Amino acid sequence: MAIYDPKSLKAEEFINDEEIRETLAYAEANKNNAELIDRILEKARPKKTANGHVCAGLTHREASVLLACEIPEKIEEMYKIAEEIKMAFYGNRIVIFAPLYLSNYCVNGCLYCPYHMKNKHIPRKKLTQEEVKAEVIALQDMGHKRLAIEAGEDPVNNPIEYILECIKTIYSVHHKNGDIRRVNVNIAATTVENYRKLKEAGIGTYILFQETYHKESYLQLHPTGPKHDYDYHTEAMDRAMEGGIDDVGLGVLFGLELYKYEFAGLIMHAEHLEAVHGVGPHTISVPRLKRADDINPDDFDNGIDDETFAKITACIRLAVPYTGMIISTRETEAVRAKLLRLGISQVSGGSRTSVGGYAEEERPHDTEQFDVSDQRSLDEVVRWLMEMGHIPSFCTACYREGRTGDRFMSLCKSGQILNCCHPNALLTLSEYLEDYASEETKKVGYAMVEKELAKIPNEKVRRIATEDIRNIRNSNRRDFRF
Ligand code: SAM
Repeated sequence: MAIYDPKSLKAEEFINDEEIRETLAYAEANKNNAELIDRILEKARPKKTANGHVCAGLTHREASVLLACEIPEKIEEMYKIAEEIKMAFYGNRIVIFAPLYLSNYCVNGCLYCPYHMKNKHIPRKKLTQEEVKAEVIALQDMGHKRLAIEAGEDPVNNPIEYILECIKTIYSVHHKNGDIRRVNVNIAATTVENYRKLKEAGIGTYILFQETYHKESYLQLHPTGPKHDYDYHTEAMDRAMEGGIDDVGLGVLFGLELYKYEFAGLIMHAEHLEAVHGVGPHTISVPRLKRADDINPDDFDNGIDDETFAKITACIRLAVPYTGMIISTRETEAVRAKLLRLGISQVSGGSRTSVGGYAEEERPHDTEQFDVSDQRSLDEVVRWLMEMGHIPSFCTACYREGRTGDRFMSLCKSGQILNCCHPNALLTLSEYLEDYASEETKKVGYAMVEKELAKIPNEKVRRIATEDIRNIRNSNRRDFRF
């Protein structure tokens, strides 16, 4: 039998079924142990230092106890601490991105995804480079600067060369004052050599959802195709890091398996990356299973309600305080508003999940990957965020200044966020307001910029940021950053 070892490179050892089962039993036995829960909460709380804050994070066992806990006041305390952590390391900034679907050709048989190979009635589509350009122009005209590219797995139709060509095209388009400054990539698990090529193409984060950490369920949910190989899929992040990509994004598709099992697996995966590579995941996404072409979420037994979803989000925030957290338009406005307070640091906006959807006037549904619950425009999302006190940020500075992997984590821990990320968020928000926002959003936005500029502690940084924003408003000069 496999023995649990976070430093091992073997899937069954770092995501160890026996360790997860013991963790769940421990969590269940201690879910009403108020004394232990208080100790864990105390450990999770951010501590003030001379330079800002530090946070200890939690082990998968500790975090699982919190997730199991049913004591209302302790859950309230978790939510409070999640918000404190969010404010300590991310402030009130929310990074904005959009997915870009390149191709829905797929040779896998995933039971929850409408792109599965047996689905013969959805039109299969793969963007040409001209179509990629048209999509990117439409996205730039909305105001986007960051994309996550998505594609099915198909070595013939979507080989790595196709993905690389698309990335090159995306970075080459500069429409009006627009450009895409960071391309994150969500494609199937691949080889070290291909990860190296993606790194050389200048990608930001490599994102791959585990879907489920439960091996038996994984094998059933992925009955055919290369994705059937659980170990190859689970070990992908190690290969990505070996290929030089140091920002990787984890995720579970909630609804496929029991959420407590998935949660323990997810935190163990983060611990494994930290133990082996010295840096944890850059982001964690929390997608929930959605209705799609021939997919009915009711056919799956493990759906979670909004309350449980909020608790999971808060517990992830407490366990891995330095990891960004992403919520997509799979969720409604109301759910997104709630989770933003509990630790989410990135949201998508104005998204279309169909291949070629942005260049179309009307939202097309025929090639959609899943139903989009939040169908508001980017302008509406930006204004909504500001009205709730969040600063929408289009910043890509860290990655472009080489602050990736552990260098990003150091910045996060250094307390320099208010002198670095905060002004960068205001600069990129000002670009958005000047070039793309409606009059109403502009009004709300500049009032926010004014107020937030005053919070920059370093006088020189504040002066430069104010001057740069004046330049953005009065000229076509763009892309200022710290
Ligand atoms: N093909 C790549 C792979 O296999 O990892 C990644 C791209 S896929 C377009 C992105 C993600 O969408 C998948 O990892 C899955 O978690 C999610 N997804 C698939 N079907 C979904 C559904 N019905 N509802 C919500 N999310 C879904």
